[in-house]
Amino acid sequence: GELGPTETAMVERRQRLLGPAYRLFYETPVHLVRGEGVWLYDPDGNAYLDTYNNVASVGHCHPRVVAAQAAQAAQLATHTRYLHDGVLAYAERLLAHFPAPLSHVMFTCTGSEANDLALRLARAATGGTGVIVTTNAYHGVTASVAECSPSLGPGVPLGPHVRTVPPPDARHGDPGTTFAAHVQAAIDDLARHGIRPALLMVDTVFSSDGLFADPPGFLTPAAAAIRAAGGLFLADEVQPGFGRTGDQMWGFQRHGVTPDMVSLGKPMGNGYPVAALVLQPAVIAEFGAKARYFNTFGGNAVAAATAMAVLSVIEDEGLMANAAQVGATFRAGLAALAARYPALGDIRSAGLFLAVDIVTDGQPDPARAARMVNDLRAERILISATGPRGHVLKIRPPLVFSEDNAAFFLDRMEVVLRRQG
Ligand code: PMP
Repeated sequence: GELGPTETAMVERRQRLLGPAYRLFYETPVHLVRGEGVWLYDPDGNAYLDTYNNVASVGHCHPRVVAAQAAQAAQLATHTRYLHDGVLAYAERLLAHFPAPLSHVMFTCTGSEANDLALRLARAATGGTGVIVTTNAYHGVTASVAECSPSLGPGVPLGPHVRTVPPPDARHGDPGTTFAAHVQAAIDDLARHGIRPALLMVDTVFSSDGLFADPPGFLTPAAAAIRAAGGLFLADEVQPGFGRTGDQMWGFQRHGVTPDMVSLGKPMGNGYPVAALVLQPAVIAEFGAKARYFNTFGGNAVAAATAMAVLSVIEDEGLMANAAQVGATFRAGLAALAARYPALGDIRSAGLFLAVDIVTDGQPDPARAARMVNDLRAERILISATGPRGHVLKIRPPLVFSEDNAAFFLDRMEVVLRRQG
């Protein structure tokens, strides 16, 4: 595809105005002006099937969410230092979705801030500073979490108190035992450097490591290991949370473990910046005695109203069940394609979060994955690739994705595979 004159000018303006650190998706960037449900539209009215954006989890511009947001914006938009029922009603509604020990929620605007707050709380509660994350983890943009985010690459060095462990990959031995052994080795290495552990922080489906969700239960021994060493366990639910995995609201639930803290973000406001840290009261006892917390925009009245509407839609439209059902047929369709096209390797999934390894002669082929992402974009299907080598197709559509949408995706995918030969 050729970039039109408007888009060519926009690319130049971005570089000039936004500077050199921003990156666009696709060799031919997509210019969007409107979204509705699972569809995104360019200025010429062309529709793109969104199989990537987990933020607009209940569908782009969901009318109920937009109406709740607009009504609250027209009524009152202020912060959490006044009494307002909205943030309390939402807190009650949200916490009802968690195991009883997780009984406080603190509001932020981004997942990064939620993880940043978690680091502060963990340090205060444990007296330690050490942090353990996975090899290709991403936990956010602040200085403290960027140095716990190895997926940002060698240009963003890890902190001296940070250790990495390989993700629990069921293809390499029993993932529960192996993952716990790696966590223990990291704890021991921190100890050799005189560093006490504060936090084991993991995305509970290991999104940026390439998606590892099975078998259920594999997180339990690692959580026990960090706690035995005096540290805390944080479930980063920014990607898997709010029903995406199909069976349950949160990714940690499939492993039967209750985290000390849980960070939430992206889909929480369906595009409005609202995020949170859910925690066990013991975690904040030390911090709360000494420090205060105020986040100007976090949990403001509009954020609370928006997030409340999102939860209502997830429940009323049965989106968790939809994620489970459509996710299963989508996965079966991918497996059927993989049986005929050897470029499709291992398939992993949890609800409407699916990953396919792109391989040549059984070996990871990141160049081919990149070609597939760009070829699918030419077919007006939006998707991305992930994993440490970038060879894992990442399929993560809004939860309102239908069987028909999955069939359309598979049809276009086959066109691309056949053309690539
Ligand atoms: N944790 C995970 C697992 C994420 O995927 C992200 C965002 N990609 C974040 C944290 C940071 O969230 P935000 O961009 O809202 O700061």
